[in-house]
Amino acid sequence: MPKRIGILGGMSPESTSEYYEYITHTYTERFDDYGYPEIIIYSVSFQPYVDWPNEDRWDLVAQGLSKAAQSLEAAGADFIIIATNTMHLVFDQVQASVNVPMLSLLDAVGEAILGRGMETVGLLGTQFTMEKTFYRDRLARKGITVLVPDASDREVVNDVIYDELVAGQVCDESRARFVAIIEKLAARGAEGVILGCTEIPLLVNEADAGIPLFDTTAIHAEAALNYALE
Ligand code: GLU
Repeated sequence: MPKRIGILGGMSPESTSEYYEYITHTYTERFDDYGYPEIIIYSVSFQPYVDWPNEDRWDLVAQGLSKAAQSLEAAGADFIIIATNTMHLVFDQVQASVNVPMLSLLDAVGEAILGRGMETVGLLGTQFTMEKTFYRDRLARKGITVLVPDASDREVVNDVIYDELVAGQVCDESRARFVAIIEKLAARGAEGVILGCTEIPLLVNEADAGIPLFDTTAIHAEAALNYALE
């Protein structure tokens, strides 16, 4: 029996549904049947998880996600993933609150970067993902250097995530702005760019960007599927 996957989601619903579809569809493509792992989704009410980071109340984020993770464990999840990059800031606290293992998105992304033989990559994500050190530090442990856009470009990326993508809006104008920002990162030496927010893959793909992109939603969902099947 595959392990039962617990998804801590709703941040935002747009990307949580991508995880669900990726895991179920990829299994069926690979094995030609419907024997995919059981999945339990705990979809939080997103608003507090937008407000608390803005108020720098990461303690409340950690408490809320820990309670949700405990509910997934009590419901029978064999392991848990947090289906957002940003909330990995409190990954260690949430992991400490449950007895089942959690699979880190950052580790899966790091492995994917090393697997492509890259050492320097750009990072697009929320302001927290780009500006706090948790993301860069975790990848630095694997010997990967992370470049982030300059302040005005970071603002563009963050605003597009929260004003458009989490609401499921995909605009051509924003895609063009993202491609320009990716080009600047490439000019500074990025060999590839991490789409370090689980909604960004809705907006840009490698054909738009002309440089390797790391789709964190697909990479993390793939890691979860493989772990469930181990
Ligand atoms: N899904 C986004 C991410 O991967 C941002 C939403 C959030 O968790 O604040 O970081």
